[in-house]
Formats: sequence, structure tokens, C-alpha cells
Amino acid sequence: MPPRFLPRLVNDPYDDPGLFVPFQFARRALLFDLGDNARLSPRDVLKISHVFVTHTHMDHFVGFDRLLRCCLGREKELFLFGPPGFIGNVEGKLAGYTWDLVERFSARLRLHLTELRPEGRIHCACECRQRFRPGAKSASLPVEGPLHAEPEFQVSAVLLRHSTPCLGFALTERFGVNILKTELEALGLPPGRWLSRFKAALYAGTDPGEEIETDSGPGGSSRRFGLGELSGRIARITAGQKIAYVTDVCDTPENRSAILALARDADLLFIEAAFLDRDRDQAAAKHHLTARQAGEIAALAGARRFTLFHFSPRYEGRQAEILAEAQQAYEETIGRSGG
Ligand SMILES: [Zn+2]
Ligand SMILES: [Zn+2]
Repeated sequence: MPPRFLPRLVNDPYDDPGLFVPFQFARRALLFDLGDNARLSPRDVLKISHVFVTHTHMDHFVGFDRLLRCCLGREKELFLFGPPGFIGNVEGKLAGYTWDLVERFSARLRLHLTELRPEGRIHCACECRQRFRPGAKSASLPVEGPLHAEPEFQVSAVLLRHSTPCLGFALTERFGVNILKTELEALGLPPGRWLSRFKAALYAGTDPGEEIETDSGPGGSSRRFGLGELSGRIARITAGQKIAYVTDVCDTPENRSAILALARDADLLFIEAAFLDRDRDQAAAKHHLTARQAGEIAALAGARRFTLFHFSPRYEGRQAEILAEAQQAYEETIGRSGG
């Protein structure tokens, strides 16, 4: 059955981290981490609505400039989320340019910034036509609950330890709606925009008795159905997809338990494997995971699949060794837990 999200790493695993998550049924995407993103086409960059940054080491944040440049002069609301200090980092980037011509732009580009701190969230917004002057910071918002939520999905975050506070993220679809084409045809209903309205009504929890109107078919006028009745005929409701993204963390008990809770039962876990396990002392000194640790964590979280990235350049050409180490640890750990 077709997944709603189609995640892919922006770069090869030796280059800057970044996970691009386009939506299958809309011109829209999420981005996790803002490393070098020159390999994303401008068309793909413009699909991005929400960006989730783990931390602002250069390899995770240098791509902010390209994102901003692609969006300049466009009508767009861009939402960015990051760890403690994030708003100051973005303001520092924006202060590095001269903005004397932007008042003439007719389109409005607004940045909405959210910083997750242990004690709560800080939010502010700034606008291109106002030279990105820093907006007022909102009072601390609650730390609990998803970082971002929409009717169809949510993104949650946990604060983890790297050499600096670092966020881990999980994208969870509430449930999947699969349209059964054969049933549509049997009812003589045309595909079309009405199906988006139909799905939106399901995600919004609309009363099943409420009526939904189809587009008009080739043979004539539109038709009306009760939402619940139609859903029973043409849709199959499935468990939602879950994708987790974890990088730049040390293997401490606190990080492990937070990552396991975040990535629990993920369909796909993107997890760093910066070092081989024989270099685990170096990994610990640099606050990164080894491939063995990544495989263990993926298994303990119950992740169905995992994808490794953020390999140290010292292992250039040894990708197979890294993957094999993680895979072995994954299988051994599952074996030990009787899974
Ligand atoms: Zn990094
Ligand atoms: Zn880092």
C-alpha cells in the first residue's frame, strides 16, 4: 500500500546529514536537518513547509542560506524548529546580510521560529519585507505534547545530549487512508479533488453521518453520500507510518531511554553511525554513535527497518563494513530479546 511520506536522505551518508520527506499526494515536504542541500532541486526546496533542526553544528545548519535564498521573493510561511539557542542562531544568520531592497517585494515571506528548551518552548516570527527584524518572543509554551501537529500527522521531539543539546524527531501519521480503486469504479465514482476533501473529513474526525459530495463524473452530475457509509465502501483505514530521525548523540543511558521512547515501533529509523565499534572510545569522545550501537538501538526500539548515515570520512569506501556491523547488532539484539 502506498506510503504517504517518501523520506530520502539529501546526501550520501558521508556528506552532511539531512532527511527530505516529500508528501506523496501534495506538493509539500518536511526537512529534518539543514546541512548542505545543494542536491535538492529548487522545486523540491520550495515544497518545504517545516524544517526540524537537531542542532546547529555547521554540518546540520549550513543549508539555511540556500533554503532562504530559494524562498526569497515568494509568498510563503516557513516554520523552523530547533534546540536551545536556535532562535539566536537564525537571527545571527539573518543579521549577516543587507536587506535594503526587500521592502519592495510584493510577496510575503514569513519565518516562524520555535526553540525547544528543557523548561518550555519559545516562539517568534519575522518577515522578509520588514528586513527580518526579530519579532517579539512569546512566553514559554508547554514543553509537553508534539512539537508540531496537523490533523493527518504530528512531529514530536526529545532533547538529547551531544556535545551540545540536540533534538531527536519522530514523524507519526495518525492513520492511513487507502482508496480502493475497484470499489470507486464499481460505484461509478470519478477520482478527483473530492477525494482529498473526503480524506480531510476523515482526518478531521467529522461526524460519519455528514454528507460528502463527489465531483461530477463523465456521465453527469455529482452525487452525495454519508461519510461513514462511503468510507466503509471505498476506503481501507490502516495504521499510520512512523519515521524517526536521530543523529549526533552519545550512547548514554539517558539518551538511550529517550531515543527508545521516541522511536518505539517506528517503521523506519534514520540513525547516525559515525564510527565503527572498534573506535568506540573516539565515538564517545566526539559524542557520536557507533554502527553497533545504532543497530542495537534500532532493535531495542522495535524499529522495523533502519537507515544509517553521517559516516565519518575516515571510513570512506568501507560502507559495507559499517552496514554489516549495524545489521549484525540489530539481529543479535532482536535474537536476545526473543523478538
Ligand atoms: Zn554532525
Ligand atoms: Zn554535531
